[in-house]
Amino acid sequence: ISDYLHKNVLVIGLAKSGLAAAKLLHQLGANVTVNDLKAVDSDASVQELRELGVQVVCGDHPLSLISDSVDLVVKNPGIPYSNPLISLAEKQNIPTITEVELAYKISEADIIAITGSNGKTTTTTLIYEMLKEAGKQPLIAGNIGTVACEVAQLATKDNVIVMELSSFQLLGTIEFRPAIAVLLNIFDAHLDYHGTKDEYVYAKGKIYENQIGTDASIVNFDDREVCELSEKSHAEKLFFSTTTMLEGGTYIKDESIWYKNEQIILIKDIVLPGAHNLENILAAISAVKLRGATNDAIVKVLTSFKGVKHRLQFVENINNRRFYNDSKATNILATSKALQAFTVPTILLAGGLDRGNEFDELKPFLKHVKAMILFGETAPKLERIAKESGIEVIKRVDNVEQAVITAYEVSDEDDVIVLSPACASWDQFKTFEERGDIFIQAVHKLN
Ligand code: ADP
Repeated sequence: ISDYLHKNVLVIGLAKSGLAAAKLLHQLGANVTVNDLKAVDSDASVQELRELGVQVVCGDHPLSLISDSVDLVVKNPGIPYSNPLISLAEKQNIPTITEVELAYKISEADIIAITGSNGKTTTTTLIYEMLKEAGKQPLIAGNIGTVACEVAQLATKDNVIVMELSSFQLLGTIEFRPAIAVLLNIFDAHLDYHGTKDEYVYAKGKIYENQIGTDASIVNFDDREVCELSEKSHAEKLFFSTTTMLEGGTYIKDESIWYKNEQIILIKDIVLPGAHNLENILAAISAVKLRGATNDAIVKVLTSFKGVKHRLQFVENINNRRFYNDSKATNILATSKALQAFTVPTILLAGGLDRGNEFDELKPFLKHVKAMILFGETAPKLERIAKESGIEVIKRVDNVEQAVITAYEVSDEDDVIVLSPACASWDQFKTFEERGDIFIQAVHKLN
């Protein structure tokens, strides 16, 4: 912690994480300057920092902020390395980190870190819930919770921090070393930010890089790139797989999940649907078993956890029609995962912002879809693929509320009705969360 005493630190980006980092560094005795392009003098956060004596430069990224006297730059994960200030800092060999590195440095608690292209939030939440059920005093941090360095400030040795990390956050780490590191999978994502896939993969690999013998790396045996990255790790490796029976790992045998030689739970007793969630569950079990969670605690969570909000979240069963909210599915890949989760007749509610793409890639996954209820800008495009796929019932409606009513009208007992739009929400909603909330309300109203 004394690393920061009297150091000159420049914090770039004053979102929630920038504010938390600046306050923490100030508390640790650093001389802090904050810079933000969009902030204005009247912002509450700007005023709060100025009252503490922190210098805040708003509205511009003046290059003069980087000089020989700057010891450290803390950047918001969303700011690209091509930003002129960051490039200049790199040229002058000034270390640039994200607040996750600070969190690691000050934390008295062990950290369980979770990353991957997909499934981070679900896995992080599962691990947190299982550890809570087992009485292990977990704290949650990352995209879904509070800022990592804020949580780390509160944590004691008795806690364990469960931390969801994006590749952007990981890129800005130097010594960061989680006691347990989970890398779920690597798909081609965020290449616009990272530029090349190599850089994206490198960022993900940083989760294992500093680990030592007493730590644990949890590795997806079914993902070749994840396995390759785990070779960097010096920690104990624990593999999980949905396809291969791995003695010494976490795997599927006889319709059940096994951890080493213990049978944990029958798959049919798990509430969370979808093969993709099975991967997240295997990863979560691996992590919490290493922290001594009991099988009872694990089973209790898996038989009650309905999914993270808006991610294939079970909403309600109305007259034997099961409703699911997957509003987070803003692209074709996510909707295809949702459709693969069900083997009963399914009614799909879809549509939204038109990004100019077609939806033909959805066709292979429409096998169990008996009706499509379409809304938003992309409704005509989705109608075309519905017709070409021979879907029996195709309806166009104005909004999500109408879609719910129409879906119920055309449904039969034992159908699944799922909102999984395959599109962003901004044509009709502020956020995908708002779209999902409206869906949930409309479903409850049917009762
Ligand atoms: P993230 O936090 O990484 O965005 P989430 O847990 O929020 O992940 O899940 C977002 C979406 O990603 C889900 O709705 C689902 O479509 C997909 N998904 C979740 N887990 C996986 C996985 N293990 N493999 C592939 N896709 C997944």
